[in-house]
Amino acid sequence: MICPYCRNEVNDGVKFCPSCGGDLTNVPQAEQPVQQPVQQPVQPQMAQAAPVAAQQKNGKAVAAFVCGIIGALCCTYLGIPAIVCGILGILDAKNGKADKKNVWMAYAGLILGIIAIILMIVNIATMASGTNSTYNDIMDAINNG
Ligand SMILES: [Zn+2]
Repeated sequence: MICPYCRNEVNDGVKFCPSCGGDLTNVPQAEQPVQQPVQQPVQPQMAQAAPVAAQQKNGKAVAAFVCGIIGALCCTYLGIPAIVCGILGILDAKNGKADKKNVWMAYAGLILGIIAIILMIVNIATMASGTNSTYNDIMDAINNG
């Protein structure tokens, strides 16, 4: 046990402390230093787990964005995968399967995909009508100076 007066280690059962001579007969057992439970270090694992899981890049959102841009600019048929990937990317972000940071890419890809589809429909309608007047007018203007 520990002497409560001088804090030296003394043998259990002795009546007087050999170091300071203090009376140990009335010292209750509780005076012995209670072994402190080892303080558990705060585990940051739980705090890190969620962000790590959400850090997975939203590949579908990126794909939708790229397809949407290219689709709106030239290859209008890419509007279809842009819309599909955009919807899937938004769903993944909402379900926590993918990073929410670039969910805007999914929305942008979805909108660009819709624009590309509208352009494709307009092109098909123009070709179907057989006139293609706007295109011919522009080419005529370029050729004629
Ligand atoms: Zn002592």
